[in-house]
Amino acid sequence: MSPEEFRRVGKQVVDWIADYRAGIESFPVRSQVEPGEVRAKLPAHPPERGEDFEQVLRDLDEILLPGVTHWQHPEFFAYFPSNSTGPSILGDLLSSGLGVQGMVWATSPACTELETTVMDWLVALLGLPSHFRTDAAGGGVIQDSASSAVLVACLAALQRTGEDVARLGIRRRHTLYASEHTHSSLERAARLAGIGSDNVRVVGTDPDTLGMDPRRLDELIAADVEAGAVPTLVCATIGTTSTTAIDPVREIGEVCRERDVWLHVDAAYAGVAAVCPELRWINDGVAEFADSYCTNPHKWLLTNFDCSALWLADRAPMIEALSILPEYLRNSATESGEVIDYRDWQVPLGRRFRSLKLWSVLRWYGAEGLRAHIRGTVALAQEFAGWVREDPDFELLEPHPFALVCFRPRYPELSASEADERTHRVMNALNDSGDLYLTHTKIGGRTLLRLAIGSPATERRHVEAAWQRIRRAVQVR
Ligand SMILES: *Cc1c(COP(=O)(O)O)cnc(C)c1O
Repeated sequence: MSPEEFRRVGKQVVDWIADYRAGIESFPVRSQVEPGEVRAKLPAHPPERGEDFEQVLRDLDEILLPGVTHWQHPEFFAYFPSNSTGPSILGDLLSSGLGVQGMVWATSPACTELETTVMDWLVALLGLPSHFRTDAAGGGVIQDSASSAVLVACLAALQRTGEDVARLGIRRRHTLYASEHTHSSLERAARLAGIGSDNVRVVGTDPDTLGMDPRRLDELIAADVEAGAVPTLVCATIGTTSTTAIDPVREIGEVCRERDVWLHVDAAYAGVAAVCPELRWINDGVAEFADSYCTNPHKWLLTNFDCSALWLADRAPMIEALSILPEYLRNSATESGEVIDYRDWQVPLGRRFRSLKLWSVLRWYGAEGLRAHIRGTVALAQEFAGWVREDPDFELLEPHPFALVCFRPRYPELSASEADERTHRVMNALNDSGDLYLTHTKIGGRTLLRLAIGSPATERRHVEAAWQRIRRAVQVR
């Protein structure tokens, strides 16, 4: 593709995206295809001769779009948001255009130095401690996902136990601590790091707050030490995936400090809410106790997947755990010790110029625009929660400090299991309608619907329409 062809087709692609975004409300939110339907329409063999890009765009419209769930639709309320915005798309396009592979500083200094800068900017924007900055002992790095972030944290924590796991492998039983509401990526990290699922200890929670009970944590750690295990990492969550519950980071941190166990704080969804001073209380205990901390701009902070921010209070154990310097990567900048080589801060070697999209977002919106987005979506969620609370046919899960609301219809005439089944049927009917998309969770054995607001396209009228649809679906008996 020559530069002139790229210019012509590229403009068509940008137009396609702009038209798609402008008309997104005309699509059913959740894809309605059956398994195999998309594949059946695709040719079994790749083309022998090259084709025009127009044909790719035509197949995108005709074959792929029906199989797309429209995550940027204003009535997408499932899971958590996965924001993708104009400046972020353009930043990502520029990254593709440059085609830089930024594994070490020397392979593209700007890729490393912009990343360091935007990660330091985020420290300030989110009110995180200054020791997370790269000019202190810590530092921030963009990972592909919170799952990779917690794996890196585990590898660093293993190294910090003094067992030199990086060289010798795991020779003792290492234990990790989480609650039943901790994201499954922790257990995944335990498997990947060779710690094993059975060594993820599940700490009991407070039945009201759903937060981890620090006393139970302390007892479990003590019992494990007694039994000869090496307590290695505790994962505390600020904003659980299920309900946005918050673990008491400060009290958990005190236990970790006392027992010399690494504290990883997973704030994948909710952490970015701290751009708003009125929500900054969620960081309580992070400055004093977190050894690592993760939040995802690619969920709620207007940045395309993938962009997960990980900070460390001390980067040394991570680098010890991950750094290997083969001859073909040797260079004078690395040897001078004056530069960061982010390959030592992640699992893969190669890395994209991801900071470009985050930089584009931070500059386009400014702190003010980011705050307006978080505040706007939180306000809509609070209004929705108010409607649920006032309706005698519904039950609301409290508290809901962010933009996720968990609730369920009341079916007083049904048993718990029949009521849960009915709730599922209501959800499936709503999702099948294509008008909106909700997901569910289970708390205390009971099914709850989750309505997560987070798209910049979502206006009050969309939330109101969703509420009316949910009420009507519940009334159909
Ligand atoms: C979404 C989520 C994750 C996983 O995030 P990925 O970036 O998709 O790996 C981890 N923890 C919490 C609390 C989450 O909400």
